[in-house]
Amino acid sequence: MTRLDQLLLRELGPDVVSLDQDLLRDCSHDESEQEAVMPDVVVTPADPLQVEILLRLAAEHRFFVTPRGAGTGKSGGSVPMRGGVSLSFHRMDAILEVDPENLLAVVEPGATCERLQQAAWDAGLFYPPDPASLATCSLGGNVAENAGGPRAFRYGVTREYVLGLEAVRIGGQRFDVGHRPVKGVSGYDLTALLTGSEGTLAVFSKLIFKLIPQPKAPGLLILYFPSVHEAVRAVTVLVQNQLFPMALELLDRRSLDAARTETFSPSSIAGGALFCELEGLADAPHLAQGVLDALARAGAAPSDHVLAADPVTAGAAWNARRDVSSRLKALHARKISEDVAVPRALLPELVLGIREIAGELGLESACYGHAGDGNLHVNFLTDGDGAAFATAVERLFRLTLLLGGTLSGEHGIGTLKRRFLPAEHAPAVLDMFMAVKRAWDPDGLLNPGKVLDSVP
Ligand SMILES: Cc1cc2nc3c(=O)[nH]c(=O)nc-3n(C[C@H](O)[C@H](O)[C@H](O)COP(=O)(O)OP(=O)(O)OC[C@H]3O[C@@H](n4cnc5c(N)ncnc54)[C@H](O)[C@@H]3O)c2cc1C
Repeated sequence: MTRLDQLLLRELGPDVVSLDQDLLRDCSHDESEQEAVMPDVVVTPADPLQVEILLRLAAEHRFFVTPRGAGTGKSGGSVPMRGGVSLSFHRMDAILEVDPENLLAVVEPGATCERLQQAAWDAGLFYPPDPASLATCSLGGNVAENAGGPRAFRYGVTREYVLGLEAVRIGGQRFDVGHRPVKGVSGYDLTALLTGSEGTLAVFSKLIFKLIPQPKAPGLLILYFPSVHEAVRAVTVLVQNQLFPMALELLDRRSLDAARTETFSPSSIAGGALFCELEGLADAPHLAQGVLDALARAGAAPSDHVLAADPVTAGAAWNARRDVSSRLKALHARKISEDVAVPRALLPELVLGIREIAGELGLESACYGHAGDGNLHVNFLTDGDGAAFATAVERLFRLTLLLGGTLSGEHGIGTLKRRFLPAEHAPAVLDMFMAVKRAWDPDGLLNPGKVLDSVP
């Protein structure tokens, strides 16, 4: 047993500190291409006090701590790159409060997104953020990554729902930021700073989320187009016509093939499809006609469409959409996945560019995701050795930035995109990022190797 193990066992006890090799292995990776790195020990606190103790000891004894939710991250964020402690929140998973009068919920960070959605729904309310991983991903991970999802198109990303939070800094200081009222402009907005900070500035121990009234029962209109190019062009047409569905998701031809299941049979000839989720469609299927008319008027009519107004058919289609990533992985020997975002009107240029990059490098590509936000999950696929992936990704990022886009729409920088950050941000801005990191974690002990190069 190492001195670190002994220290933690003495201060926190065997219920909280584990050296179990299977658990260590579980905490060594996430769902990205980042290679696994084993932590030395896993700490699973049951309350904020234990988080405080751990982060006090980390500062005193200078060991690394990597916060971890459910490990569904796609950028290496919860991989303990320098070993040390994996701080896993799966025991702190309570929905502490749902307040229908003030339209808010208070939760522990290990609760899944789906559980908050359900708790809000049971109280007659709605929590919109819906990452495709919602059944398993934790709310702490969602806040740390500022997660999006299909419904971000209408409702915005996680940041728009975080009213406030309780967090603990390296050194063990616990503090509250934000507020319970929907409004509040007192002091700097540290809630916004911590949201999307990828576990590099502080560790969340409690979260306060805004809830909103329930929408009318939605249904799904699936629009099929001859080409993916026409599918993404339709996004701008809908926006220009002031049509804002609850979600507007793209699946290109290869993604449609991967999405096929026993309960979801997509068109076998379309080049691309849009999943257009419309509020109220379940009870008023005629609402779909407004979308079809707008597209027809703009000369952007789909070649076919399917109405999935009832929850069972729509649910099957959404499940198939959520599984596209894992199915693509199963269908190809090698896959690399990125999540770039561009201004939505430039999506046609992006999809053309992706096809060109893949073609020239002898790769296949699959694009799907949140077209309404200009945010695509771009997959390069091969049954070969994947040697061309690095060039493909560099070219994809160059194209994205040329189009005025950003390297990550929702998956974060983590370890995998760190070296590309200077391509998007000026040196002065990178210096400001580093100054923020130093102010919160001067010795670089919290989630090392993420977002920025090490703190010197
Ligand atoms: C099939 C699939 C579909 C996905 N779809 C989407 C999608 O639609 N939209 C989307 O945005 N993402 C999506 N993701 C990515 C992923 O689910 C999200 O990034 C999610 O927010 C990660 O949550 P997690 O609990 O798994 O966090 P982890 O992967 O465990 O950690 C992610 C980051 O959060 C930090 N962190 C975790 N808990 C805390 C805490 N309590 N305090 C401080 N930092 C913390 C970690 O250090 C790490 O940097 C998908 C992933 C998969 C596998």
